Amino acid sequence: MKITKCESMLLHVPMQREIADSMQAFTHIEFAAVRIETDTGIAGTGYTLTVGAGGASIQSALDTLFCPHIVGRNPYDVREIWYDLYHGKSHWVGRSGITTMAQACIDMALWDIIAKTAQQPLWRMLGGGRAEDVPIYNTDAGWLSLDRTALQDEMKGLLDEGYTAVKMKVGGPDPAEDYRRVKAVREVVGDDVTLMVDVNQKWDLVTAQIWGHKLGDFDLTWLEEPLHPDDVTAHRKLRTKLQTPIALGEHVYTTPAFRDFIQDEAVDIVQVDVTRVGGVTPFLEVAALAHAYGLKVCPHAGDMSQVHQHMVRAIPNSWLLEVIPAWADDVFRDRIQLEDGKNLTPMEPGASTEFREEAVAEYRVA
Ligand code: MG
Repeated sequence: MKITKCESMLLHVPMQREIADSMQAFTHIEFAAVRIETDTGIAGTGYTLTVGAGGASIQSALDTLFCPHIVGRNPYDVREIWYDLYHGKSHWVGRSGITTMAQACIDMALWDIIAKTAQQPLWRMLGGGRAEDVPIYNTDAGWLSLDRTALQDEMKGLLDEGYTAVKMKVGGPDPAEDYRRVKAVREVVGDDVTLMVDVNQKWDLVTAQIWGHKLGDFDLTWLEEPLHPDDVTAHRKLRTKLQTPIALGEHVYTTPAFRDFIQDEAVDIVQVDVTRVGGVTPFLEVAALAHAYGLKVCPHAGDMSQVHQHMVRAIPNSWLLEVIPAWADDVFRDRIQLEDGKNLTPMEPGASTEFREEAVAEYRVA
């Protein structure tokens, strides 16, 4: 089996409303992607996601650094191809960020081809036996752009839909207002709902020690990305001060970087993301590393949960799957299926990465 073509593309997908977390407000998401064709007629799709900017840089990395170097190779050499690309033309200018996001596109497309060739869903191809439905949590009702009443209404709406786990954003300009918002949400969802908060890196260590401790009043399942995502030392210090577990990983782009957080006891919940860390291949490395240290993996939904629904079924240490159902709902051919707070097991062959032809026609900008 040989790769005959590797074509990049960029989709610019509008959202139903402008939303904001503590880092940014946005109205569009972008998918930088590749479609890889083979001489057997089977093709695979891989993608990564950005919020409104950066996709063109990733596409350029695909066109200039990666696509030309995989034509003629066998998709089954996926792990070897991953390391060849990593140590190849991109090494001097990359190694994380734009280049690992571009590598994610290639790696996911190759795994999609392998699973389609086997006529199996990716989770089964990866040796997963967890065919049961997986518990999920919803991140779409907790934006900083919602006022306190809207926040409560949207959280109530999720409970009505059957969700039992939700996440909300904090890290606004006034931590005391964050506190009031979390209090308001805990009041409306009740004591039994699993509640997480996400700072999106906005705090410094002192702010995180003070307000991370105060937010402990609300029985939080985790405190997400409290600090700068490269700062292992500060996370380790914070972790020794707080009861609430610390979650991070959506901005940790390599296996060695995850190793440093895990080995230094600076993280409790590992939020590795296939679209950021470089694809399925390094995701499996990080998940195994976390497992060796007794840590759970709850992937960040940068893939819109299309691929992670397979990954959580293929590893022994997964827990909750993050979902944002309203985003990109018309982009994928086989959109993730949700029911009563659970993700239904995907059974179609492949990695669930294929775009609808109509979506490509409508949203493609390059
Ligand atoms: Mg987050």
